[in-house]
Amino acid sequence: MLMRIGGKDMEGIDERRIEVKNPATGELVDRVPAGAKEDVSCAVDAAEAAYGAWAKKFMRERGMILFHAAQKVRDQHKDLARLLTMEQGKPIHESIDEVRGFASILEFYAGISAHSSGEAIRLGPAGDCMVVREPLGVCGAIIPWNMPVLIMGWKVGPALLAGNTLVLKPASTTPLTTLKLAGILDSSGLLPGVLNVVTGSGESVGAAIVRHPLIRKVSFTGDCITGSKIREMASAHMKDLTLELGGSDPMIVMNDADIDRAVEGALRGRFYNAGQTCTAVKRLYVHEKIADAVIRKLQVRIEAFRTGNGLEPGIDLGPMNSAGQRERISQVVKETRDNHEGTILTGGSLLEGGAYDAGHFYAPTLVTGISPGARLVTREIFGPVLPVMTVPDLDTAIREANTTRFGLGASVWTKDLATTKRVFDEVKAGIIWVNRHLTVPPEIPFGGMNESGIGRENGQHALDSYSRTKTLFLGW
Ligand code: NAD
Repeated sequence: MLMRIGGKDMEGIDERRIEVKNPATGELVDRVPAGAKEDVSCAVDAAEAAYGAWAKKFMRERGMILFHAAQKVRDQHKDLARLLTMEQGKPIHESIDEVRGFASILEFYAGISAHSSGEAIRLGPAGDCMVVREPLGVCGAIIPWNMPVLIMGWKVGPALLAGNTLVLKPASTTPLTTLKLAGILDSSGLLPGVLNVVTGSGESVGAAIVRHPLIRKVSFTGDCITGSKIREMASAHMKDLTLELGGSDPMIVMNDADIDRAVEGALRGRFYNAGQTCTAVKRLYVHEKIADAVIRKLQVRIEAFRTGNGLEPGIDLGPMNSAGQRERISQVVKETRDNHEGTILTGGSLLEGGAYDAGHFYAPTLVTGISPGARLVTREIFGPVLPVMTVPDLDTAIREANTTRFGLGASVWTKDLATTKRVFDEVKAGIIWVNRHLTVPPEIPFGGMNESGIGRENGQHALDSYSRTKTLFLGW
């Protein structure tokens, strides 16, 4: 596939290509251009040229284009989901969820397009003021490989509805579904140049987007270290930033919780997308009175998981997205074992032999008896490894939950309102779920505290973040 610039497929100035391989089989899925700084300039020029006419349209008209695109995505969801599984690895039912989620995001923004906001302020004898919101201009979006379609929706929906134009870079291992979706959006009525996708590495294309003087805002989702570099680069031109970074979400299960529901929540929370989700359950704290029962149930269910090629029916876990990701997980588990920092109840190894040999498979893993300060719970573990800690009371659970530099999400599983209130008030995270984890519908703001990032995606909050206020003061 080629890049999309100015509403057309483009080769890029460099002849080099990036190979996109299926992480389950190692087979070549497609090639995309290895973009360069010059391709970013070309995309920014196209976005700048399209901006005036796009920003002048009725917001409702922009919303209708998003709505038409959403309908096309729904019509083509099976093909899009298949492509997503082939480049990313996740089971096909998860890809279907993600593609439909993308359509829902566009529909949500189409739905609020009839309510463009503003205010009038009366100042008595001094006059009257009118405050309107206007778009920022050309924006940049940089996307990771773990949820490439959903995260593309989180950025494209509000940015375009607000009247901005966009230059977007997908991750090198997952550019294909993004390019297809950009084509669908173009064919739904976007003016050429409103949405441009430049493929290539973070160091060349990503950095060129962040550094380009005409780009007014950058929305980035990815690793904390990359986020810090982006913040530094973006400061040169005082760009607006949304940074959605890592997380180490705690899940607290109290002794009054519905145990079966909590077990299912922990399994989905940790093993969805082979554990490669920013708001995955990365630390499970269980009250000591129910810990044995919870751990036993978790182990039985994890040992029954089917890991394999996500295109096959009945698969619970696909491969990890890349050899590097699998190696990182493997190292942390090895360290836990070698340093006697935890007991591996099940899993804890690469999956090898037969069809597994061609892919980046890792066994779903359950670890208990974790020592304080073990890397398994102090770092973000981006893979199918669930560490379970036993706690004597809520005070300990809250204290442990807060022992992290992150603050993305957290959940508490309880029937008690007072417990809920304490967790909501005291755990440091951008979202607190009760008897649920992981779900982020388009209506609710999403983003972290502390080193999990800056700003919010989704909902009205994201729309506001892609615009700024401008005030007219009428002195009469
Ligand atoms: P990453 O930071 O390595 O890459 C993310 C994107 O940034 C890719 O497109 C990459 O090419 C680009 N990039 C890399 N270096 C760059 C640079 N110097 N300048 C500009 N762009 C650059 O992250 P990843 O490994 O792809 O993603 C995993 C991380 O993302 C995890 O930490 C996860 O928690 C986080 N994540 C966060 C959220 C959230 O919403 N908070 C969602 C998903 C993933």
